Amino acid sequence: MKPYAQEPLTDFSLEKNKIAFQDALKKVENECGKDYPIVIGGEKIFTEEKIVSINPANKNEVIGRVSKADKKLAEEAMQAALHTFETWKNWEPQHRANILFKASAILRRRKHEFSAWMVKEAGKPWHEADADTAEAIDFLEYYGREMIRLKEGVPVISRPGEINQYTYIPLGVGVIISPFNFPLAIMAGTAVAAIVTGNTILLKPANSTPIVAAKFVELMEEAGLPKGVLNFVPGSGAEIGDYLVDHPKTRFISFTGSREVGCRIYERAAKVNPGQKWLKRVIAEMGGKDTVVVDRDADIDLAVESIVYSAFGFSGQKCSAGSRAVVHQDIYHEVLEKAIAFTKTLTVGNPAEGHFMGPVIDEHAFKKITNYIEIGKLEGKLMLGGEADDSVGYFIQPTIFADLDENARMMQEEIFGPVLAFCKARDFDHMMEIANNTDYGLTGALISNNREHIERARKEFHVGNLYFNRNCTGAVVGHQPFGGFNMSGTDSKAGGPDYLILHMQAKSISEKL
Ligand code: GLU
Repeated sequence: MKPYAQEPLTDFSLEKNKIAFQDALKKVENECGKDYPIVIGGEKIFTEEKIVSINPANKNEVIGRVSKADKKLAEEAMQAALHTFETWKNWEPQHRANILFKASAILRRRKHEFSAWMVKEAGKPWHEADADTAEAIDFLEYYGREMIRLKEGVPVISRPGEINQYTYIPLGVGVIISPFNFPLAIMAGTAVAAIVTGNTILLKPANSTPIVAAKFVELMEEAGLPKGVLNFVPGSGAEIGDYLVDHPKTRFISFTGSREVGCRIYERAAKVNPGQKWLKRVIAEMGGKDTVVVDRDADIDLAVESIVYSAFGFSGQKCSAGSRAVVHQDIYHEVLEKAIAFTKTLTVGNPAEGHFMGPVIDEHAFKKITNYIEIGKLEGKLMLGGEADDSVGYFIQPTIFADLDENARMMQEEIFGPVLAFCKARDFDHMMEIANNTDYGLTGALISNNREHIERARKEFHVGNLYFNRNCTGAVVGHQPFGGFNMSGTDSKAGGPDYLILHMQAKSISEKL
Protein backbone atom coordinates (compact mmCIF):
# COMPACT_ATOMS: atom_id res chain seq x y z
CA MET A 1 0.00 0.00 0.00
CA LYS A 2 1.20 3.50 -0.85
CA PRO A 3 2.34 5.53 2.16
CA TYR A 4 0.00 8.27 3.30
CA ALA A 5 0.27 11.50 1.31
CA GLN A 6 -1.74 14.67 1.64
CA GLU A 7 -4.62 15.03 -0.82
CA PRO A 8 -3.72 17.83 -3.28
CA LEU A 9 -5.78 21.00 -3.23
CA THR A 10 -7.59 22.15 -6.35
CA ASP A 11 -6.08 24.94 -8.42
CA PHE A 12 -9.08 27.12 -9.23
CA SER A 13 -7.07 29.37 -11.51
CA LEU A 14 -7.33 26.56 -14.07
CA GLU A 15 -10.44 26.99 -16.17
CA LYS A 16 -11.30 23.29 -16.21
CA ASN A 17 -11.33 23.14 -12.40
CA LYS A 18 -13.43 26.26 -12.20
CA ILE A 19 -15.99 24.83 -14.60
CA ALA A 20 -16.06 21.48 -12.78
CA PHE A 21 -16.72 23.29 -9.51
CA GLN A 22 -19.46 25.44 -11.01
CA ASP A 23 -21.09 22.26 -12.36
CA ALA A 24 -20.95 20.74 -8.86
CA LEU A 25 -22.57 23.86 -7.43
CA LYS A 26 -25.37 23.59 -9.99
CA LYS A 27 -25.92 19.92 -9.21
CA VAL A 28 -26.10 20.67 -5.49
CA GLU A 29 -28.46 23.61 -6.04
CA ASN A 30 -30.83 21.28 -7.85
CA GLU A 31 -30.73 18.90 -4.91
CA CYS A 32 -31.39 21.49 -2.23
CA GLY A 33 -34.51 21.29 -0.10
CA LYS A 34 -34.69 17.52 0.36
CA ASP A 35 -35.48 15.59 3.55
CA TYR A 36 -32.86 13.45 5.27
CA PRO A 37 -33.43 10.73 7.84
CA ILE A 38 -32.07 9.77 11.22
CA VAL A 39 -30.19 6.49 10.79
CA ILE A 40 -30.37 3.91 13.57
CA GLY A 41 -29.06 0.40 13.07
CA GLY A 42 -29.19 1.02 9.33
CA GLU A 43 -32.86 1.91 9.45
CA LYS A 44 -33.81 5.31 8.02
CA ILE A 45 -36.29 7.12 10.20
CA PHE A 46 -38.18 10.27 9.21
CA THR A 47 -39.73 12.30 12.00
CA GLU A 48 -42.23 15.15 12.02
CA GLU A 49 -39.84 17.49 13.72
CA LYS A 50 -36.97 18.68 11.53
CA ILE A 51 -33.82 20.72 11.71
CA VAL A 52 -34.07 23.09 8.76
CA SER A 53 -30.68 23.89 7.30
CA ILE A 54 -30.38 27.19 5.45
CA ASN A 55 -27.74 28.89 3.38
CA PRO A 56 -26.07 31.50 5.61
CA ALA A 57 -25.35 33.62 2.51
CA ASN A 58 -29.03 33.61 1.56
CA LYS A 59 -31.36 32.95 4.45
CA ASN A 60 -34.31 32.13 2.21
CA GLU A 61 -32.58 29.20 0.60
CA VAL A 62 -33.28 25.91 2.35
CA ILE A 63 -30.41 23.46 1.90
CA GLY A 64 -32.34 20.57 3.34
CA ARG A 65 -34.29 19.29 6.29
CA VAL A 66 -33.04 16.60 8.55
CA SER A 67 -35.20 14.61 10.94
CA LYS A 68 -34.64 15.42 14.57
CA ALA A 69 -34.04 12.73 17.17
CA ASP A 70 -35.68 12.92 20.57
CA LYS A 71 -34.67 11.02 23.71
CA LYS A 72 -36.61 7.93 22.69
CA LEU A 73 -34.79 7.70 19.37
CA ALA A 74 -31.48 8.52 21.02
CA GLU A 75 -32.05 5.54 23.31
CA GLU A 76 -32.86 3.32 20.34
CA ALA A 77 -29.66 4.48 18.69
CA MET A 78 -27.71 3.66 21.85
CA GLN A 79 -29.19 0.15 21.89
CA ALA A 80 -28.32 -0.36 18.21
CA ALA A 81 -24.76 0.83 18.83
CA LEU A 82 -24.37 -1.42 21.88
CA HIS A 83 -25.67 -4.41 19.96
CA THR A 84 -23.44 -3.79 16.93
CA PHE A 85 -20.37 -3.24 19.11
CA GLU A 86 -20.42 -6.95 20.01
CA THR A 87 -19.64 -7.90 16.40
CA TRP A 88 -17.84 -4.83 15.08
CA LYS A 89 -15.17 -4.99 17.80
CA ASN A 90 -14.14 -8.40 16.48
CA TRP A 91 -13.64 -7.30 12.88
CA GLU A 92 -10.09 -7.51 11.64
CA PRO A 93 -8.54 -4.01 11.89
CA GLN A 94 -7.43 -4.31 8.27
CA HIS A 95 -11.03 -4.91 7.17
CA ARG A 96 -12.24 -1.94 9.16
CA ALA A 97 -9.49 0.17 7.58
CA ASN A 98 -10.49 -1.03 4.11
CA ILE A 99 -13.90 0.59 4.57
CA LEU A 100 -12.16 3.91 5.22
CA PHE A 101 -10.08 3.50 2.06
CA LYS A 102 -13.19 2.72 0.05
CA ALA A 103 -14.93 5.79 1.54
CA SER A 104 -11.93 7.90 0.64
CA ALA A 105 -12.04 6.68 -2.97
CA ILE A 106 -15.72 7.57 -3.25
CA LEU A 107 -15.16 10.96 -1.66
CA ARG A 108 -12.27 11.70 -4.01
CA ARG A 109 -14.51 10.95 -6.99
CA ARG A 110 -17.23 13.21 -5.61
CA LYS A 111 -14.89 15.83 -4.19
CA HIS A 112 -16.38 18.95 -5.77
CA GLU A 113 -19.88 17.83 -4.96
CA PHE A 114 -19.09 17.58 -1.25
CA SER A 115 -17.24 20.90 -1.34
CA ALA A 116 -20.22 22.49 -3.10
CA TRP A 117 -22.51 21.32 -0.29
CA MET A 118 -20.21 23.14 2.14
CA VAL A 119 -20.28 26.31 0.05
CA LYS A 120 -24.06 26.23 0.24
CA GLU A 121 -24.62 24.99 3.77
CA ALA A 122 -21.70 26.51 5.70
CA GLY A 123 -20.99 29.56 3.53
CA LYS A 124 -17.47 28.28 2.85
CA PRO A 125 -15.50 29.97 0.09
CA TRP A 126 -14.44 27.58 -2.66
CA HIS A 127 -10.82 27.16 -1.57
CA GLU A 128 -11.81 26.61 2.06
CA ALA A 129 -14.45 24.05 1.11
CA ASP A 130 -11.98 22.28 -1.17
CA ALA A 131 -9.44 22.13 1.69
CA ASP A 132 -12.13 20.77 4.00
CA THR A 133 -12.94 17.90 1.63
CA ALA A 134 -9.25 17.21 1.06
CA GLU A 135 -8.75 17.04 4.83
CA ALA A 136 -11.62 14.58 5.18
CA ILE A 137 -9.92 12.38 2.57
CA ASP A 138 -6.66 12.76 4.52
CA PHE A 139 -8.30 11.62 7.76
CA LEU A 140 -9.74 8.52 6.04
CA GLU A 141 -6.40 7.62 4.48
CA TYR A 142 -4.31 8.43 7.55
CA TYR A 143 -6.45 6.79 10.21
CA GLY A 144 -6.90 3.69 8.03
CA ARG A 145 -3.12 3.30 7.89
CA GLU A 146 -2.74 4.14 11.56
CA MET A 147 -5.10 1.31 12.50
CA ILE A 148 -3.05 -1.11 10.42
CA ARG A 149 0.11 0.12 12.17
CA LEU A 150 -1.45 -0.42 15.59
CA LYS A 151 -3.24 -3.70 14.91
CA GLU A 152 -0.61 -5.96 16.45
CA GLY A 153 -0.12 -3.63 19.39
CA VAL A 154 3.30 -2.45 20.52
CA PRO A 155 6.25 -4.80 21.23
CA VAL A 156 7.09 -5.37 24.91
CA ILE A 157 9.87 -7.37 26.54
CA SER A 158 9.41 -11.07 27.26
CA ARG A 159 11.75 -12.84 29.71
CA PRO A 160 12.71 -16.48 29.16
CA GLY A 161 9.74 -18.63 30.09
CA GLU A 162 7.04 -16.05 29.37
CA ILE A 163 5.42 -14.43 26.39
CA ASN A 164 4.18 -10.90 26.82
CA GLN A 165 1.88 -9.05 24.54
CA TYR A 166 0.59 -5.48 24.58
CA THR A 167 -2.40 -4.72 22.40
CA TYR A 168 -5.14 -2.15 22.03
CA ILE A 169 -8.82 -3.04 22.18
CA PRO A 170 -11.83 -0.83 21.45
CA LEU A 171 -13.67 1.05 24.17
CA GLY A 172 -17.37 0.69 23.37
CA VAL A 173 -20.01 3.16 22.27
CA GLY A 174 -18.80 6.68 21.56
CA VAL A 175 -20.80 9.87 21.19
CA ILE A 176 -19.39 12.15 18.50
CA ILE A 177 -20.46 15.78 18.64
CA SER A 178 -19.08 17.72 15.71
CA PRO A 179 -18.82 21.43 14.79
CA PHE A 180 -20.11 23.52 11.89
CA ASN A 181 -16.78 25.02 10.90
CA PHE A 182 -15.28 21.89 9.38
CA PRO A 183 -18.62 20.24 8.63
CA LEU A 184 -16.98 17.46 6.64
CA ALA A 185 -13.36 17.13 7.80
CA ILE A 186 -13.80 17.26 11.57
CA MET A 187 -17.14 15.47 11.52
CA ALA A 188 -15.74 12.66 9.36
CA GLY A 189 -12.35 12.59 11.09
CA THR A 190 -13.75 12.27 14.60
CA ALA A 191 -16.34 9.71 13.44
CA VAL A 192 -13.96 7.43 11.54
CA ALA A 193 -11.22 7.54 14.18
CA ALA A 194 -13.76 6.07 16.58
CA ILE A 195 -15.07 3.56 14.04
CA VAL A 196 -11.81 2.23 12.66
CA THR A 197 -10.62 1.46 16.18
CA GLY A 198 -13.58 -0.91 16.61
CA ASN A 199 -16.07 1.27 18.44
CA THR A 200 -19.63 2.00 17.39
CA ILE A 201 -20.89 5.55 17.46
CA LEU A 202 -23.75 7.96 17.77
CA LEU A 203 -23.02 10.95 15.57
CA LYS A 204 -24.68 14.24 16.48
CA PRO A 205 -23.72 16.79 13.82
CA ALA A 206 -23.76 20.57 14.23
CA ASN A 207 -27.30 21.86 13.83
CA SER A 208 -26.27 24.39 11.20
CA THR A 209 -24.56 21.80 8.95
CA PRO A 210 -26.49 18.52 9.21
CA ILE A 211 -26.87 17.97 5.45
CA VAL A 212 -23.13 17.61 4.80
CA ALA A 213 -23.12 15.08 7.64
CA ALA A 214 -26.14 13.23 6.24
CA LYS A 215 -24.36 12.98 2.87
CA PHE A 216 -21.30 11.51 4.57
CA VAL A 217 -23.44 8.95 6.42
CA GLU A 218 -24.83 7.85 3.04
CA LEU A 219 -21.29 7.62 1.71
CA MET A 220 -20.13 5.41 4.59
CA GLU A 221 -23.04 3.06 3.92
CA GLU A 222 -22.02 2.92 0.26
CA ALA A 223 -18.45 2.15 1.36
CA GLY A 224 -19.75 -0.97 3.10
CA LEU A 225 -19.91 0.09 6.73
CA PRO A 226 -22.15 -2.43 8.51
CA LYS A 227 -25.48 -1.20 9.84
CA GLY A 228 -25.43 0.01 13.43
CA VAL A 229 -21.76 1.07 13.47
CA LEU A 230 -22.52 4.69 12.64
CA ASN A 231 -25.85 5.84 14.04
CA PHE A 232 -26.88 9.30 12.91
CA VAL A 233 -28.80 11.29 15.51
CA PRO A 234 -29.18 14.97 14.70
CA GLY A 235 -30.93 16.81 17.52
CA SER A 236 -30.77 19.49 20.15
CA GLY A 237 -27.78 19.60 22.49
CA ALA A 238 -29.96 20.28 25.52
CA GLU A 239 -32.22 17.34 24.76
CA ILE A 240 -30.25 14.50 23.27
CA GLY A 241 -26.71 15.85 23.69
CA ASP A 242 -26.99 15.82 27.47
CA TYR A 243 -28.94 12.57 27.42
CA LEU A 244 -26.22 10.76 25.50
CA VAL A 245 -23.34 12.32 27.44
CA ASP A 246 -25.01 11.26 30.72
CA HIS A 247 -25.95 7.79 29.47
CA PRO A 248 -24.40 5.04 31.62
CA LYS A 249 -23.57 3.00 28.52
CA THR A 250 -21.66 5.81 26.82
CA ARG A 251 -17.99 4.86 26.99
CA PHE A 252 -16.44 7.99 25.49
CA ILE A 253 -17.32 11.36 24.05
CA SER A 254 -15.46 13.03 21.23
CA PHE A 255 -16.41 16.68 21.09
CA THR A 256 -15.29 19.60 18.98
CA GLY A 257 -16.86 22.99 19.63
CA SER A 258 -17.01 25.84 22.08
CA ARG A 259 -15.26 26.04 25.43
CA GLU A 260 -18.60 26.50 27.16
CA VAL A 261 -20.11 23.30 25.77
CA GLY A 262 -16.83 21.40 26.11
CA CYS A 263 -16.56 22.21 29.80
CA ARG A 264 -20.18 21.24 30.32
CA ILE A 265 -19.60 17.88 28.65
CA TYR A 266 -16.41 17.27 30.62
CA GLU A 267 -18.18 17.95 33.89
CA ARG A 268 -21.23 15.82 33.10
CA ALA A 269 -19.09 12.98 31.80
CA ALA A 270 -17.20 12.87 35.09
CA LYS A 271 -20.31 11.81 37.00
CA VAL A 272 -20.75 8.05 37.36
CA ASN A 273 -24.44 7.35 36.82
CA PRO A 274 -26.41 4.31 38.04
CA GLY A 275 -25.67 1.30 35.86
CA GLN A 276 -22.33 2.70 34.70
CA LYS A 277 -19.22 0.64 35.26
CA TRP A 278 -16.43 2.73 33.81
CA LEU A 279 -15.03 6.23 33.85
CA LYS A 280 -15.97 7.94 30.62
CA ARG A 281 -13.26 9.29 28.47
CA VAL A 282 -13.56 12.74 26.90
CA ILE A 283 -11.70 13.91 23.84
CA ALA A 284 -12.34 17.63 23.57
CA GLU A 285 -11.17 20.19 21.06
CA MET A 286 -12.42 23.57 22.16
CA GLY A 287 -11.64 27.21 21.53
CA GLY A 288 -8.63 29.34 20.84
CA LYS A 289 -7.45 32.92 21.03
CA ASP A 290 -4.54 32.58 18.72
CA THR A 291 -1.76 35.05 18.07
CA VAL A 292 0.45 36.00 15.18
CA VAL A 293 3.54 37.57 16.74
CA VAL A 294 5.68 39.84 14.58
CA ASP A 295 9.27 40.36 15.57
CA ARG A 296 11.25 43.55 14.89
CA ASP A 297 13.30 42.10 12.05
CA ALA A 298 10.46 40.18 10.40
CA ASP A 299 9.78 40.12 6.68
CA ILE A 300 6.95 42.68 6.68
CA ASP A 301 5.06 41.37 3.65
CA LEU A 302 5.17 37.84 5.02
CA ALA A 303 3.93 39.14 8.37
CA VAL A 304 1.04 40.99 6.75
CA GLU A 305 -0.01 38.00 4.68
CA SER A 306 0.24 35.67 7.70
CA ILE A 307 -1.82 37.99 9.89
CA VAL A 308 -4.55 38.57 7.33
CA TYR A 309 -4.97 34.97 6.21
CA SER A 310 -4.92 33.71 9.80
CA ALA A 311 -7.56 36.22 10.84
CA PHE A 312 -9.99 36.17 7.94
CA GLY A 313 -9.86 32.67 6.39
CA PHE A 314 -13.43 31.30 6.56
CA SER A 315 -14.44 34.59 8.22
CA GLY A 316 -12.31 33.80 11.27
CA GLN A 317 -14.51 30.84 12.15
CA LYS A 318 -11.69 28.48 13.03
CA CYS A 319 -10.45 27.76 16.49
CA SER A 320 -7.02 28.14 14.94
CA ALA A 321 -7.83 31.66 13.65
CA GLY A 322 -5.21 34.29 14.43
CA SER A 323 -7.49 36.90 15.96
CA ARG A 324 -4.61 38.77 17.62
CA ALA A 325 -1.61 40.40 15.99
CA VAL A 326 1.13 41.26 18.48
CA VAL A 327 3.68 43.45 16.75
CA HIS A 328 6.99 44.95 17.84
CA GLN A 329 6.57 48.70 18.44
CA ASP A 330 9.23 49.68 15.87
CA ILE A 331 7.30 48.19 12.95
CA TYR A 332 3.79 48.29 14.42
CA HIS A 333 2.46 51.14 12.27
CA GLU A 334 3.90 49.81 9.06
CA VAL A 335 2.48 46.31 9.64
CA LEU A 336 -0.90 47.72 10.67
CA GLU A 337 -1.17 50.01 7.64
CA LYS A 338 -0.15 47.25 5.25
CA ALA A 339 -2.53 44.75 6.86
CA ILE A 340 -5.39 47.24 6.39
CA ALA A 341 -4.43 47.82 2.77
CA PHE A 342 -4.15 44.09 2.08
CA THR A 343 -7.47 43.31 3.77
CA LYS A 344 -9.15 45.93 1.57
CA THR A 345 -8.26 43.80 -1.46
CA LEU A 346 -10.23 40.82 -0.16
CA THR A 347 -13.69 40.38 -1.59
CA VAL A 348 -16.69 39.55 0.57
CA GLY A 349 -19.92 38.13 -0.79
CA ASN A 350 -21.89 35.02 -1.63
CA PRO A 351 -19.25 32.26 -1.58
CA ALA A 352 -20.96 30.45 -4.46
CA GLU A 353 -19.72 33.33 -6.63
CA GLY A 354 -16.13 32.73 -5.63
CA HIS A 355 -15.40 35.44 -3.04
CA PHE A 356 -12.54 35.25 -0.57
CA MET A 357 -14.87 35.63 2.38
CA GLY A 358 -18.50 34.61 2.81
CA PRO A 359 -20.98 35.08 5.64
CA VAL A 360 -20.80 33.91 9.24
CA ILE A 361 -22.75 30.81 10.07
CA ASP A 362 -26.01 31.99 11.63
CA GLU A 363 -27.95 34.65 13.49
CA HIS A 364 -26.48 33.70 16.85
CA ALA A 365 -22.93 34.09 15.50
CA PHE A 366 -23.87 37.33 13.73
CA LYS A 367 -25.18 38.84 16.97
CA LYS A 368 -22.24 37.65 19.03
CA ILE A 369 -19.67 39.01 16.58
CA THR A 370 -21.38 42.36 16.05
CA ASN A 371 -21.59 42.71 19.82
CA TYR A 372 -17.82 42.20 20.01
CA ILE A 373 -17.38 44.87 17.35
CA GLU A 374 -19.15 47.29 19.72
CA ILE A 375 -16.86 46.19 22.56
CA GLY A 376 -13.89 46.73 20.25
CA LYS A 377 -15.00 50.30 19.57
CA LEU A 378 -14.84 51.00 23.30
CA GLU A 379 -11.57 49.19 23.89
CA GLY A 380 -9.57 50.11 20.81
CA LYS A 381 -9.53 52.06 17.53
CA LEU A 382 -11.65 50.79 14.66
CA MET A 383 -9.37 50.91 11.63
CA LEU A 384 -11.31 48.91 9.05
CA GLY A 385 -14.68 47.21 8.57
CA GLY A 386 -17.13 47.12 11.43
CA GLU A 387 -20.11 47.00 9.05
CA ALA A 388 -22.52 44.10 9.17
CA ASP A 389 -25.62 43.34 7.14
CA ASP A 390 -27.98 40.46 7.80
CA SER A 391 -30.73 41.46 5.38
CA VAL A 392 -29.91 38.66 2.90
CA GLY A 393 -27.26 36.58 4.65
CA TYR A 394 -25.09 36.97 7.73
CA PHE A 395 -22.37 39.19 6.31
CA ILE A 396 -19.76 40.93 8.42
CA GLN A 397 -16.92 42.89 6.83
CA PRO A 398 -13.36 41.98 7.82
CA THR A 399 -12.74 44.19 10.80
CA ILE A 400 -9.48 45.46 12.27
CA PHE A 401 -9.02 47.16 15.61
CA ALA A 402 -5.77 48.78 16.68
CA ASP A 403 -4.10 49.69 19.95
CA LEU A 404 -5.72 47.13 22.20
CA ASP A 405 -4.50 46.69 25.71
CA GLU A 406 -3.07 43.20 26.12
CA ASN A 407 -5.73 42.37 28.71
CA ALA A 408 -8.68 43.85 26.83
CA ARG A 409 -11.64 41.53 26.24
CA MET A 410 -10.90 41.75 22.51
CA MET A 411 -7.51 40.25 23.30
CA GLN A 412 -8.80 37.55 25.65
CA GLU A 413 -12.14 36.20 24.45
CA GLU A 414 -12.78 34.00 21.46
CA ILE A 415 -14.92 35.89 18.94
CA PHE A 416 -15.05 33.28 16.16
CA GLY A 417 -15.60 35.86 13.47
CA PRO A 418 -13.70 38.17 11.09
CA VAL A 419 -12.41 40.49 13.79
CA LEU A 420 -8.71 41.13 14.30
CA ALA A 421 -7.09 42.96 17.22
CA PHE A 422 -3.67 44.62 16.98
CA CYS A 423 -1.53 45.07 20.07
CA LYS A 424 1.85 46.73 20.36
CA ALA A 425 4.75 45.00 22.17
CA ARG A 426 7.89 46.57 23.65
CA ASP A 427 10.33 43.74 23.03
CA PHE A 428 10.52 39.99 22.60
CA ASP A 429 9.94 39.23 26.30
CA HIS A 430 6.80 41.30 26.14
CA MET A 431 5.68 39.48 22.97
CA MET A 432 5.98 36.08 24.61
CA GLU A 433 4.20 37.37 27.69
CA ILE A 434 1.24 38.58 25.63
CA ALA A 435 1.23 35.46 23.46
CA ASN A 436 0.72 33.33 26.58
CA ASN A 437 -1.68 35.59 28.45
CA THR A 438 -5.00 33.91 27.60
CA ASP A 439 -6.79 30.87 29.01
CA TYR A 440 -6.23 29.10 25.70
CA GLY A 441 -3.24 27.51 24.02
CA LEU A 442 -4.19 26.25 20.60
CA THR A 443 -2.18 27.79 17.76
CA GLY A 444 0.27 30.61 17.30
CA ALA A 445 2.75 31.94 14.80
CA LEU A 446 5.97 33.87 15.10
CA ILE A 447 7.19 35.85 12.12
CA SER A 448 10.87 36.45 12.72
CA ASN A 449 14.33 36.29 11.19
CA ASN A 450 15.99 36.16 14.57
CA ARG A 451 17.22 32.62 15.21
CA GLU A 452 17.58 33.17 18.93
CA HIS A 453 13.98 34.33 19.20
CA ILE A 454 12.75 31.41 17.13
CA GLU A 455 14.54 29.00 19.48
CA ARG A 456 13.16 30.77 22.54
CA ALA A 457 9.62 30.70 21.14
CA ARG A 458 9.96 26.96 20.47
CA LYS A 459 10.04 26.55 24.26
CA GLU A 460 8.19 29.57 25.58
CA PHE A 461 5.24 29.99 23.20
CA HIS A 462 2.77 27.69 24.95
CA VAL A 463 0.47 26.43 22.20
CA GLY A 464 -0.35 23.00 20.84
CA ASN A 465 0.39 24.09 17.26
CA LEU A 466 3.25 26.52 16.80
CA TYR A 467 4.23 27.90 13.40
CA PHE A 468 7.22 29.94 12.32
CA ASN A 469 7.12 32.35 9.39
CA ARG A 470 3.67 31.38 8.16
CA ASN A 471 0.02 31.64 9.14
CA CYS A 472 -1.39 29.82 12.17
CA THR A 473 -4.26 27.98 10.45
CA GLY A 474 -4.43 25.01 8.11
CA ALA A 475 -2.78 22.14 9.99
CA VAL A 476 -2.30 19.18 7.66
CA VAL A 477 -3.21 15.62 8.72
CA GLY A 478 -0.08 13.58 9.40
CA HIS A 479 2.10 16.70 9.09
CA GLN A 480 0.94 18.98 11.90
CA PRO A 481 -1.17 16.93 14.33
CA PHE A 482 -3.73 19.39 15.68
CA GLY A 483 -4.91 20.17 19.22
CA GLY A 484 -4.24 22.60 22.01
CA PHE A 485 -3.31 23.23 25.61
CA ASN A 486 -5.21 24.68 28.55
CA MET A 487 -8.81 25.68 27.77
CA SER A 488 -8.33 24.70 24.13
CA GLY A 489 -9.10 21.11 25.07
CA THR A 490 -7.55 17.81 25.97
CA ASP A 491 -4.63 18.23 23.54
CA SER A 492 -5.96 15.23 21.63
CA LYS A 493 -3.93 15.61 18.50
CA ALA A 494 -6.21 15.02 15.50
CA GLY A 495 -4.33 13.68 12.51
CA GLY A 496 -1.43 12.55 14.67
CA PRO A 497 0.16 9.28 15.78
CA ASP A 498 -1.45 9.28 19.25
CA TYR A 499 -4.97 10.01 18.14
CA LEU A 500 -6.38 6.53 17.53
CA ILE A 501 -5.05 5.28 20.85
CA LEU A 502 -7.35 7.73 22.60
CA HIS A 503 -10.24 5.63 21.28
CA MET A 504 -8.87 2.36 22.64
CA GLN A 505 -7.62 0.76 25.84
CA ALA A 506 -4.41 -1.16 26.24
CA LYS A 507 -4.39 -4.79 27.33
CA SER A 508 -1.27 -6.49 28.70
CA ILE A 509 -1.26 -10.26 28.31
CA SER A 510 1.39 -12.48 29.84
CA GLU A 511 1.64 -16.25 29.43
CA LYS A 512 3.96 -18.40 31.52
CA LEU A 513 5.53 -21.12 29.42
N1 GLU B 1 -7.42 22.16 11.93
C1 GLU B 1 -7.83 23.49 11.57
C2 GLU B 1 -6.64 24.37 11.30
O1 GLU B 1 -5.52 23.97 11.53
C3 GLU B 1 -8.69 24.15 12.61
C4 GLU B 1 -9.74 23.30 13.19
C5 GLU B 1 -10.78 24.07 13.94
O2 GLU B 1 -10.98 25.26 13.75
O3 GLU B 1 -11.47 23.41 14.74
O4 GLU B 1 -6.83 25.47 10.88
